[in-house]
Amino acid sequence: MRNTPTRPDPLAPQVRANLYSDTQTKPSAAMKQAMMDAPLGDEQHGDDPTVHALCDRMAALLGKEAAVFLPSGTMCNEIAILTHCRHGDEVIAHETAHIVAAEGGAPGALAGVSVLGLAGARGQFDVDTLRAAFRERRRHAPPQTLVEIEQTANLGGGSVWPLDRLAAVCEAAHEGGMAVHMDGARLMNAVVAAGVPAAEMAAGCDTVWLDFTKGLGAPLGAVLCGTADFIDAAWLWKQRLGGSMRQAGICAAACLYALDHNVARLAEDHANAAALARGLAQLPGIAVEAPETNLVFFDTTASGITAAELAARARRAGVQLSTMGRYRVRACTHLDVDRDGIALALDAIRAALAD
Ligand SMILES: *Cc1c(COP(=O)(O)O)cnc(C)c1O
Repeated sequence: MRNTPTRPDPLAPQVRANLYSDTQTKPSAAMKQAMMDAPLGDEQHGDDPTVHALCDRMAALLGKEAAVFLPSGTMCNEIAILTHCRHGDEVIAHETAHIVAAEGGAPGALAGVSVLGLAGARGQFDVDTLRAAFRERRRHAPPQTLVEIEQTANLGGGSVWPLDRLAAVCEAAHEGGMAVHMDGARLMNAVVAAGVPAAEMAAGCDTVWLDFTKGLGAPLGAVLCGTADFIDAAWLWKQRLGGSMRQAGICAAACLYALDHNVARLAEDHANAAALARGLAQLPGIAVEAPETNLVFFDTTASGITAAELAARARRAGVQLSTMGRYRVRACTHLDVDRDGIALALDAIRAALAD
């Protein structure tokens, strides 16, 4: 296995509908203009006014005291774990969580923590499952210090944690002496789908972050929020990991633009995902999971075609999909895919199944 990503094949078919991920959006002309116009300073030195504006706005949006701007969502999760936990601690999360499956083992590699993965439908666990995972506080057991929740749950099909389940899990965690961290990579998708304000969704969580590259159209950037003391401690890890930046306002400006222009429109992505799922449900050999937000997962087992083969065939027709298991495919809607793109994707998948 090589770690370096492969470069695009110059002979590859032209991409006509990119449903691979909501991270593949390109900054719009207006977003780039906002970046050009942003006042800048040395972020590492506390001098970038655009970064301060973004952090202030995010702290208010998520109902927390303070915020810190970071290059990526992965860094938000890892700095949160590094700040909440000590070596030898145990973090409780869903078994399919991004911190378990997609961060290169960073909780162990960087923070020296183990992660206890809980089962549960659609990337979520309930309060009884959480309580059953609590260990007796004794020298033999790893100290359990953090519960992690993904809103929306990516491998759970973009599912939205309901408020009552969130509240129960947060309360039980706090009773058990644990902090709660929300991986809000796609928090605004949950906010738009449920019609619940972000601060209310994050109310029981000690820390929460939002990714500006997941369907919000920014080229990079994520903001981690928590108490002022927590964010102060997080800054030490930001410095240690090389996440302290310089004229980062050029990117924070894209995030501010995204907050103004690209949040309410997530409803369109959800409608497109629903349309895609309705079309997929008509196709032979496909079992589609009902989408709640912008992620559509479907199973190809009954068709006899693996996810990788289906994706390869669709790619030849200019449609990009991602595979999440041998027979599990993910299609992701976002601001660079319109209803024509959905129709194109359905045609390509229909043809791929008939091949
Ligand atoms: C994408 C993603 C991340 C990581 O974000 P990056 O900005 O790609 O580092 C973390 N959690 C979830 C649920 C994600 O989907």
